[in-house]
Amino acid sequence: MNNDSNKSVEQSNSIAADRVQGSFDEDLVTCSICHMILWKPVACKTCENSFCSDCINQWQQKQPNKCPFTCHYEERKCIGAILKVLSRLQINCCYMQNGCSVAVPYEGLEKHEQQCDYQFKKCEGCQRELLLKDLAQHQELCDQIDLKCSTCETLFKRKDMKNHKEVQCLKQQLQQQKNQVQELKLEFKQEIQQLKETMEQKLKNQQDTIDQLHVKNEEMQEECLNVIKKQIQLHMMQETFDSVYSNTLKIEEHGLVVVLIGKREHSEVRGRNSYSSGINCIKFQIEKMLNNEWISFGVLSQSTPMASTSFSSPSFYG
Ligand SMILES: [Zn+2]
Ligand SMILES: [Zn+2]
Ligand SMILES: [Zn+2]
Ligand SMILES: [Zn+2]
Ligand SMILES: [Zn+2]
Repeated sequence: MNNDSNKSVEQSNSIAADRVQGSFDEDLVTCSICHMILWKPVACKTCENSFCSDCINQWQQKQPNKCPFTCHYEERKCIGAILKVLSRLQINCCYMQNGCSVAVPYEGLEKHEQQCDYQFKKCEGCQRELLLKDLAQHQELCDQIDLKCSTCETLFKRKDMKNHKEVQCLKQQLQQQKNQVQELKLEFKQEIQQLKETMEQKLKNQQDTIDQLHVKNEEMQEECLNVIKKQIQLHMMQETFDSVYSNTLKIEEHGLVVVLIGKREHSEVRGRNSYSSGINCIKFQIEKMLNNEWISFGVLSQSTPMASTSFSSPSFYG
């Protein structure tokens, strides 16, 4: 048996003649370069000899355009009669040594060998070589296989499952929770910081508004005061004595002065202006006052007739 018999046709690009079942025209389907059964054959256009495409490609790299039969080489399709013989061949699977008993038609050989249950594959856990047909079952039980914990999502080997469940998983969960707490703390801190900044900004805005209001208020007070001062000045300027009740009193100096000229008795002197509202300031000076004398100063209704005892009139206020 050929050394390559345990290699798939995909790996070796050749088929040993002893793998073919039954009798066949061996000379017709043998490659002149590798002396094995033609694999993916092409032919020389000049001499019509056939070669495996891999064999002739390698040959061409060393001797371009030269046929192994010394003629000028130009590639053509393999001759139909050869392809027909090839297609009838039944070939033992390359994994026959491992137990595959299937003889596969030439055309289906490559595909069968790719999927053959009797090829060796490495276990993902223990790395042992196992037949493909046994691999799934082995990996179900192999204690080196990595498993993912559904609780903490970490990987552990199957043999460590007990230890993982009882110790590592709890540690892992604790660590994950610690990390979460750490993240939450950080998040919380950032939120607090943001909140603080927002509040500070709001406070500052409010303080600014209050400051502006203060300034405005002071301006308005100042303005009001000025208006009041002006009004007061206006009234002070304008008020004069206008009329007296009896000859006891006399108005002099164009209403600026009133003097007692007659008997000492009750009398009344009225100002020229009438007042309906607001603050009115009237300034006057008493230059001379005898003992036991008094003056009543105030406002009374304009419609009240002048009298010697106006101070006792119901409308008098002073
Ligand atoms: Zn060949
Ligand atoms: Zn040739
Ligand atoms: Zn097989
Ligand atoms: Zn294993
Ligand atoms: Zn776990």
